[in-house]
Amino acid sequence: MLVGLFIFPYTASAAQVHRVAPGESLFMIAQRHGVTVNAILTQNKYLRNHNTIFPKQVLIIPQTHNNGIYIVQPGDTLFKISEKLGVTVEAIASENQITNINNLFVGQSLKVPTNTSQTNTTVTNNTYTVKAGDSLFKISQQLGVSMEAIAKENQLSNWNNIFVGQNLKIPNNDTNQTQTVSDEYVVKPGDTLFKISQDLAVPMNDLVKENNITNVNLLFVGQVLNIPNKVVSQPPSSPQHSVSQLARMYPDTLFMKGTGNGNKIALTFDDGPNPTYTPQLLDVLKRHNVPATFFVMGSRVERHPAIAQRIVNEGHVIANHTWIHPNLRNVSQSQLVTEMTETENIIQKVTGVRTALMRPPYGGINQQALEGLRDLNYKVIHWSIDSVDWRDQEVDTILINSLSPILGNDIILFHDAGGDEQTRGATVEGIEEIIITLRSQGYEFVTVDNLLGVKAYR
Ligand code: ZN
Repeated sequence: MLVGLFIFPYTASAAQVHRVAPGESLFMIAQRHGVTVNAILTQNKYLRNHNTIFPKQVLIIPQTHNNGIYIVQPGDTLFKISEKLGVTVEAIASENQITNINNLFVGQSLKVPTNTSQTNTTVTNNTYTVKAGDSLFKISQQLGVSMEAIAKENQLSNWNNIFVGQNLKIPNNDTNQTQTVSDEYVVKPGDTLFKISQDLAVPMNDLVKENNITNVNLLFVGQVLNIPNKVVSQPPSSPQHSVSQLARMYPDTLFMKGTGNGNKIALTFDDGPNPTYTPQLLDVLKRHNVPATFFVMGSRVERHPAIAQRIVNEGHVIANHTWIHPNLRNVSQSQLVTEMTETENIIQKVTGVRTALMRPPYGGINQQALEGLRDLNYKVIHWSIDSVDWRDQEVDTILINSLSPILGNDIILFHDAGGDEQTRGATVEGIEEIIITLRSQGYEFVTVDNLLGVKAYR
């Protein structure tokens, strides 16, 4: 594996977690870590009152980038890094001559450009109006659409020739397609070996053998995998939209967060029930009297009915995460119906409730699947924050991934189960600190239906 081979002449300290001790002030903490109070505030937007921090709460201490160098951390994307450092994606890309934004890898050192301002993005009816400071690269990164696709859609011959006020047609998102024509596959953010094997319809064992993979969790973004045999590409069916595009097109069906930046937080857990970790998690939630939402797999409810029952008994919401966890972008309409109704039936048999909320496995959704789910009367729940706990299985990294982006009314994605080799111990530990931290800052934990004002059950 390449991942062990990157060695750097010095180590820049990564973003880290500070656990507040009694009597500490933000100023003291900043001094101790050699950063400014402002830098801490930027990294911890969930702080509601800058003068009030509490013992045991967690603060994320930003990366100190010595000599203007930033080392790419687990869970990083160029967009995340740009937010951490308060500089634009475009500036980082140009400073480091990055041509493919997906080719970041953990441990990579990036030159940090000098500060420029950020702007927010809005797309109306698939049209984007160019703002000051925009480049094609920046727009493509913010919208999750490739530069090539935007250029083609708008017949731009020169990618630098966009002007403020120009209306760009935003093409269908193409970042999620897997029409790999060669026998190589470049690992994308969010990929797991399981996901790749599903998307490419290649058995996971074949991928492991072909690439001499010893640890299936050690994939990194930008890694090139050899794909054995031929890759089955997706049929050129309906256009592919990004999740946020779909959420705008179907605002009553697909949700990524609550409205505005209020004081509510919905903790969500996927892939259970798991006989080891789900009970541990339920213990933590019970101790702090926090309700959560569990997106369970039908096949696992069948195996662990008592745990599913406990989820409901203890005041949590149970919701549908399909029977065998297929990527819904690749299933037929009849398979979709089977996945949903079989899971709903076992949940009802075990707990007595019929689910009205679902989360698509991998967050994978397209227009066809979304309309199918809408016709089955499901609310489709995505997320606004990904803890990336399936990959970054360390407490501090999970805290950094989960807390840094919080603005309020967020839906945070965690997992209480995973593949056979995965542990969820760090998730269980991290949840307790997330609860303590956010409660100390006045946040209220709610189930997803409460956050969104929809019904959990039918
Ligand atoms: Zn899942």
